[in-house]
Amino acid sequence: LLLFGSEEQKRYYLPRIIAGDDIWCQGYSEPNAGSDLSNIGLKAELDGDEWVLNGQKIWTSAGHLATHIFTLARTDATVAKHKGISFMLVDMRQPGIEVRPIKMISGESEFNEVFYTDVRVPKDNVVGGVNNGWAIAMALLGFERGEAAATGPIRYEAEFDRLVALATERGVINDPRIRQRLAWCYTKVQIMKYLGRRTLTKFLAGHHPGPDGAVSKLYWSEYHTKSTELAIDIMGMDAMIPVGRKPSTAFQTDDPGAANSSMSWAMTFLNARAGTIYAGSSQIQRNIIGELVLGLPKEPKPN
Ligand SMILES: Cc1cc2nc3c(=O)[nH]c(=O)nc-3n(C[C@H](O)[C@H](O)[C@H](O)COP(=O)(O)OP(=O)(O)OC[C@H]3O[C@@H](n4cnc5c(N)ncnc54)[C@H](O)[C@@H]3O)c2cc1C
Repeated sequence: LLLFGSEEQKRYYLPRIIAGDDIWCQGYSEPNAGSDLSNIGLKAELDGDEWVLNGQKIWTSAGHLATHIFTLARTDATVAKHKGISFMLVDMRQPGIEVRPIKMISGESEFNEVFYTDVRVPKDNVVGGVNNGWAIAMALLGFERGEAAATGPIRYEAEFDRLVALATERGVINDPRIRQRLAWCYTKVQIMKYLGRRTLTKFLAGHHPGPDGAVSKLYWSEYHTKSTELAIDIMGMDAMIPVGRKPSTAFQTDDPGAANSSMSWAMTFLNARAGTIYAGSSQIQRNIIGELVLGLPKEPKPN
């Protein structure tokens, strides 16, 4: 909104976001549009001063808690796929919206299916112009992948301290195989920290995270699958019957200083798998880095 919103949109929505009056979720993915996001099919048709939306979104994090959903909708099906998409601000508090929770491997329901049946959206709720939604969506993903580049490593460093404490508590801190893996984790977190500082420095110099946000996203998510695997190996059989407090969030790490319960690590281990999928899978991040950061030749597209 700060970059692409109209003055009216900024004036109305930004204070409400800061005050917590509106809670937003992200309506991008559909059953037939994930990595291939430009394939979205949720249809928007203009009826007088309103858009009428019909279709479905899926994997919508916090959709069951949100009051609003920013939605990628197909506003022109006659042009190239990414040229007929608009970015719309949709109030979820209307009868045409149905939210169905999806159960995750951890047993929790953090994400949802969202169904739209004749959902009405004021004409002015398009951000950045009709059929210009692809540019807005990509800019947003740059922020989503890059925004935690500088702060994320602080959490991963705190998590590493918990990992060392766990190895100490469990009496394996002097095992050379564990020490080797801890040293690997330490090195990765330090590199992550410097990568984050580079992103922060560029941001302070006026550069917004774009395709290079993929570097940070790929780095932390792949690292996290390995560090949590080490925690599970340290706990051994205890990890199979997790007990204690659950992590405070399904995303990234548990809180700094959280107790080293088997539940905290087992759930974080499961959630870490999802980290390599949401905000774009690792394969897609590698494509972005190859094509848009390093300038390598594009992969062949089936369409
Ligand atoms: C926990 C979680 C929360 C999420 N929250 C949201 C949300 O709030 N809002 C939202 O809109 N979406 C959300 N998503 C959806 C997420 O963005 C998609 O799952 C993701 O983009 C992958 O799309 P897909 O699931 O359709 O998999 P697919 O695109 O079908 O991919 C399947 C596999 O094929 C690989 N693949 C696909 N294309 C290529 C290619 N060109 N080259 C190489 N490999 C390829 C992928 O890497 C993957 O391994 C969430 C997902 C998760 C797991």
